[in-house]
Amino acid sequence: MKPKRWLAFKRSFKLKLIFSYVFVILVSFALVAFFLDKSLEKNSLRNLESSLVIQGRLIEDLIAADNITKEDRASLDTLVKSISPETKCRITIINKKGVVLADSEKPQQYIPDMENHIGRPEVRTALAGAIGIDTRYSPTLKIDMLYAAVPIKDHNESIGVLRLALPLSSVKDTLSVIRKIVFAGFVFSLVLAFVLGSLVARKTIGPINRMIQISRRFSEGDFSRRVIRVPKDEIGELADTLNKMAQDIEDKIREIKAQNQKLAAVFNSMIEGVIIVDKESRIISINPTIEKIFGVAKKNAEGKMFLEAIRNNDISEVIGAVLRKGEVASLELTLRYPVNRIFEVNAAPIFDTSVTGCLVVIHDITEIRRLETVRSDFVANVSHELKTPLTSIKGFVETLLEGALDDRENNRTFVTIIREHAERLNNLVNDLLSLAHLESREITLDKKDVDLRRLAEGVILGFKAQAKKKNIAIADELPEGLSINADKDRLEQVLTNLIDNAIKFNNDKGSVRVYSREEDAAIKIIVEDSGIGIPGKDLPRIFERFYRVDKARSRELGGTGLGLAIVKHIVELHNGSVGVESAEGFGSAFWFILPTA
Ligand code: ADP
Repeated sequence: MKPKRWLAFKRSFKLKLIFSYVFVILVSFALVAFFLDKSLEKNSLRNLESSLVIQGRLIEDLIAADNITKEDRASLDTLVKSISPETKCRITIINKKGVVLADSEKPQQYIPDMENHIGRPEVRTALAGAIGIDTRYSPTLKIDMLYAAVPIKDHNESIGVLRLALPLSSVKDTLSVIRKIVFAGFVFSLVLAFVLGSLVARKTIGPINRMIQISRRFSEGDFSRRVIRVPKDEIGELADTLNKMAQDIEDKIREIKAQNQKLAAVFNSMIEGVIIVDKESRIISINPTIEKIFGVAKKNAEGKMFLEAIRNNDISEVIGAVLRKGEVASLELTLRYPVNRIFEVNAAPIFDTSVTGCLVVIHDITEIRRLETVRSDFVANVSHELKTPLTSIKGFVETLLEGALDDRENNRTFVTIIREHAERLNNLVNDLLSLAHLESREITLDKKDVDLRRLAEGVILGFKAQAKKKNIAIADELPEGLSINADKDRLEQVLTNLIDNAIKFNNDKGSVRVYSREEDAAIKIIVEDSGIGIPGKDLPRIFERFYRVDKARSRELGGTGLGLAIVKHIVELHNGSVGVESAEGFGSAFWFILPTA
């Protein structure tokens, strides 16, 4: 057995169980052996003694008193030697002086040489009239002997002693046989204890070992295993509890996982950027929006100090303040790189018992700010546009009131100018109203099939006088029967605005063409002029509200700067797009594409 396995075995439950069995067996066998040995020895000795005494008494009856008194050694010898084989004892006859008269183990001729037996304790007792018993080592035979001496009486007087001697080896033999049996029983019990102990241990340890293995899995985070083949005892109860605990933990983990997934889904899909830092300003988590805003990867940022991962001092200072004071703080942040945008940064402390971290939410307010700028620009533009005609009207009205009314030469001119300005105001207000209406999102298009050629014809007819003034030729080159599903009035407005511009910003004797191109599932309508054209730098902004290449000229021509903005809105409401190609001094081609499907 390897040292490690041996150590495990030494500490194992199996060894303890076997050891306790062996201990019980050892102690019980030791006690049994000790007491059995003692009492058996005593009992066998006593039995032997009494059987010797009985035999002694019986033999004593066979001895004639005369043979003793007359010391008839020959007949006594014959007697003892004939009885001895049957009794298996050594028989000795001694007279009252202690002289041996006959001995079953000695040939008759050696008897006179035998030692006087008067000193032997059993002989002395028998001579005193009682039964003498003694156990001692026989130097003659070199073994332990049991001696029983019976007095030989003649008329109630001890005339000699009949002594029977038996080697104790038979007692010892019996005892040794019993000892051997007890020892064999002991060995057998030991083996049985070992086998039984092993079996019981295996039965008990099996489930325990399984529980240990499964508990190890639990500690590694795998709660899917269960203890099977559960015995119906305390160990079974433990296994049941373990199984139930694993089930509970598994359920809880599943619940927590589901919750985490939900949270992660919310966290990852948030439009707002979210950063969570700990109390040392170390990043715990960031969401994909933050990755985009600051151009950092989540796996590189998490675990790093804030400034190390996201090099933004402003946010870092806000986080520092929140962590120090435990109060909410916010900041407006304009980023140039990696994105050019404006953000509102809100930072709030995360509390446990004290401040344990900070939650930073970053909201993109670029669009809000842009709309705010657009709105304020718009208000400024509108005010400015209104102010110019109003100032003129006011000026001329005052001039008239101050006496010009009676100035027959000029008063009509003044009133005409006032009317022109009032008209401009009217145009402006009308354009503003249509723009407001188009932007309101409440607008519904009244779509039906519109014959584009007819529509363009009507619009061109409306500009006949205006075109004639500048000798401009307008050609309607749209094909016959070209129709589109659209809001007719609004489409008319589009064409009106474009053709109006094409005439307004045209040269004398110039030309205007309205034609179309078939596109993929769309129709492109182009209004092309041979006019002044638009400088390249102004092209990108030409569709913006109030954007004009030449403000004075536009005003002079009665423009509001809203015409193209209205065109763009209407076309986009039809899911179309607008554009322009132009070369300064050569003319412009404004186009819009409307989907046919
Ligand atoms: P306006 O009322 O000034 O015409 P628009 O929004 O219709 O306002 O046009 C904006 C500006 O675009 C004009 O002031 C002009 O500078 C330029 N523009 C529009 N159409 C043309 C064109 N056909 N040729 C040259 N410039 C044009």
